[in-house]
Amino acid sequence: MKDRTKKLAKLDKDYLWHPFTQMSEYEGEEPIVIERGEGVYLIDTEGRRYIDGVSSLWVNIHGHGVPEIDNAIKAQVDSLGHSTLLGATNPPAAELAEKLIGLAPDGLTKVFYSGDGASAVEVALKMAFQYWRQRGRGREREKTKFVALQNGYHGDTLGAVSVGGIDLFHSTFAPLLFKSFKAPSYYCYRCPLGLKYPGCGVACADELGGILEEHAEEIAAVIMEPYVQAAGGMIVSPPGYLKRVREYCDKYDVLLILDEVATGFGRTGKMFACEHEGVVPDMMVLGKGLTGGYLPLSATIVKQDIYDAFLGDYDEFKTFFHGHSYSGNPLSCAAALGNLEAFENYDTLAALEEKIGYLEEELKELRGLSHVGDVRNKGLMAGIELVDDKETKTPCPLDKKMGWKVAGLAKEEGVLIRPLGNVVVLMPPIGIPMDDLKKLLEVTYRAIRGATEED
Ligand code: PMP
Repeated sequence: MKDRTKKLAKLDKDYLWHPFTQMSEYEGEEPIVIERGEGVYLIDTEGRRYIDGVSSLWVNIHGHGVPEIDNAIKAQVDSLGHSTLLGATNPPAAELAEKLIGLAPDGLTKVFYSGDGASAVEVALKMAFQYWRQRGRGREREKTKFVALQNGYHGDTLGAVSVGGIDLFHSTFAPLLFKSFKAPSYYCYRCPLGLKYPGCGVACADELGGILEEHAEEIAAVIMEPYVQAAGGMIVSPPGYLKRVREYCDKYDVLLILDEVATGFGRTGKMFACEHEGVVPDMMVLGKGLTGGYLPLSATIVKQDIYDAFLGDYDEFKTFFHGHSYSGNPLSCAAALGNLEAFENYDTLAALEEKIGYLEEELKELRGLSHVGDVRNKGLMAGIELVDDKETKTPCPLDKKMGWKVAGLAKEEGVLIRPLGNVVVLMPPIGIPMDDLKKLLEVTYRAIRGATEED
C-alpha cells in the first residue's frame, strides 16, 4: 500500500464515522480511497479501477467527468457560490425550475428546492398536511395522516422514517415516529397476500384502495416509490398498479406523492417512472440523479392547486414555513442544468433501450443459478435475490452475508456493488457504454456463482 493511501486510511479510521456502516467491521478492513472518476470508472489511490456498479449510491447518471456538468459548475463558481432563496433568486435556480417543469408530467407547475432526498420528502409531507388545513372547505383540517407501503423507503429523517417500511432500518426509531397506514408492498416474488400475478388482478392496489375507502377523511396523502421499491430490495411493481393507485387517490380525494428520488432521471427507461403508466402525481419528489450525481440537490414539484392553497395576505400566515440554508444553491442548480444538457447531447434516454434489452437478456442467465430466487429489473435498476433454497424461497440467513460475499468477489474483479441484504443490486450510470455493462454483468455472474456455490 502506498504511503499516501496508508495516511488517508489512518485519518479515515481515526476521525470518520461512515453512514449505514458497522464501524467495528469497517475498522478491520482495508478501505478503498477513491480519488478520481473517469466515465463509469472510479479510481482509488492505489491506481485500481472499478466500475461504479451502483452509480455511487444511485446518484450518478452519465458517468464521472461529464464535460457539460464540469463546465457548468466551473462557470458558476466564477460568478456566485451561494445566496439564499429566501425572498430572492439566482439565475441557475430559476432556469432549472423552468426546465424541470418542462420535463415533469403535465400539471406539475411549481418547484421547491431542498438538499437531499429525505428533505424533499419532508417538504412533501409537510406541504400535504398544511395544504389540507388551508383548503378550508369543510373537514379537510382532519386530513393529517399518510398511507405508505411496506418495504418503502424515503430517507432517514424522522418524517421520512415515519412513512418508511423497512423494519431493519426503521423499527429502532418507532417511539419517535408518527403513525402512518401501511399498505402491502407490491412484492410479487413474496406476495404479502399470497397471490400470483397476473391472476391476482393486482389485488395489492385494492388493499391500498380499501384503506382509503375506510379512512379517506383523515388521510392527507399516499406516498410511494413508483414502479421500484429501491432500498426495499429493488422490488418491481406489476403493471397497472400505479395507475390503479392514482384512481383510488382521485376517487377518495387523497393526494398522491411519488418519490422519484431513486427512479427519476432515466433509471427505469423513461425520464420519470410514473410515465410508464401515464400517471401524474400531485407531488413528485426528485433528488439523487438531479445533478447527475455531482452535488446535493432535491426538489418537490407540485400541482398549481397545492401552491395556490398557500397564497394569501401576509397576516393570514399561510406561508409554507419551511426552508433549508442551501435551498436552490447555484452550484448545485448549475450542475443540474449541465446534467440535463448532457441528456440532450448524448440522447441518453434513446440510447438506453439497447442497454436495457441487453441487461434483460443477460439477467435471464442468472435465473438458472442454484441460489438465485428472483431476478427483477425496471430499466437499468436491477435486483438479484439470493436464496438458500430455491424451491421453498427460504432466504439466505442474514449472518451468512451472501450479498456482501458477492460484492467482495466483484470488487476483486474491479466492480463496485453494494447489496441490500440478500439482494445483489445493479444500478450502473445509465450512460454506461455497452462494453462496461457487459463486464459488469459477467463479473456479477461469476461473483454470484463464486459466493453461493462454494459451500
Ligand atoms: N427516497 C428514495 C426512494 C430513496 O431511494 C432515497 C435514498 N436512497 C431517499 C428518498 C433519500 O434520499 P437522500 O439519501 O438523498 O436523503
